Amino acid sequence: MSKKIIIDPGHYKNCPNKGRNGYNEGNGVFKISTYLKQELDRHGFVTILTRQDTTQEVSLTTRGKMAAGADLFISEHSNANDGTCRGVEVFYSIDLPDDKILAGNLSKSISSLMGNINRGAKIRESTVEKGEDYYTVIDTAQDVGCKNVVLVENGFHDNLIDEAFLLKDNNLKLIAKIQAKVICDFFGVAYVEQAYTQLSRDIDILASAGIIDSPEYWKRGSEYKIEYVQALIHKVAGFI
Ligand SMILES: [Zn+2]
Repeated sequence: MSKKIIIDPGHYKNCPNKGRNGYNEGNGVFKISTYLKQELDRHGFVTILTRQDTTQEVSLTTRGKMAAGADLFISEHSNANDGTCRGVEVFYSIDLPDDKILAGNLSKSISSLMGNINRGAKIRESTVEKGEDYYTVIDTAQDVGCKNVVLVENGFHDNLIDEAFLLKDNNLKLIAKIQAKVICDFFGVAYVEQAYTQLSRDIDILASAGIIDSPEYWKRGSEYKIEYVQALIHKVAGFI
């Protein structure tokens, strides 16, 4: 049974949360969310984004409630403070303490990629209602029975160094990729590189055309010089 993952871009397009050199949190986290969806989809997860790419706000409770029956809810953000802070932190629910491991692994991996500080796994308690989560989206997702709930702060967009990283589209792809690796690992799914997925597909094309037999042998990448064979296979597949 496929695991169901709800990916929450934390803000709407062109929202007011901005860096000093042109980064916008709404646009950045929507890209991370979309790239994460692509990564998870190709690993067999069922994924849903909580919002489309519009300039309209979707309420925190509406987005949190979409997590009903899901295995994971992940809310994507970038942080802001006074411009001096750098680093990654990941919040989890007070009511789901086992998520500390997943949150910690995400924080460690993303901060290592960004070359900033690992601020780690955190919980934040509501100041109004004791024992409840501060973040409405975490609280709601947990309340509707989602099994695992995290909110990721992918660096500080008001810090010039973190913002410079977040301004590069390819870096947002790398953030999504590292998150997908951690999530695959959490659910016991082997992470497969995108290039290898394409190779696998082309090997199947060659096998069904009768050009090679035993496709499983060809898919065992460690047994040959993968770059050369890959180039050959793509070329041959292109003629079919
Ligand atoms: Zn945010």
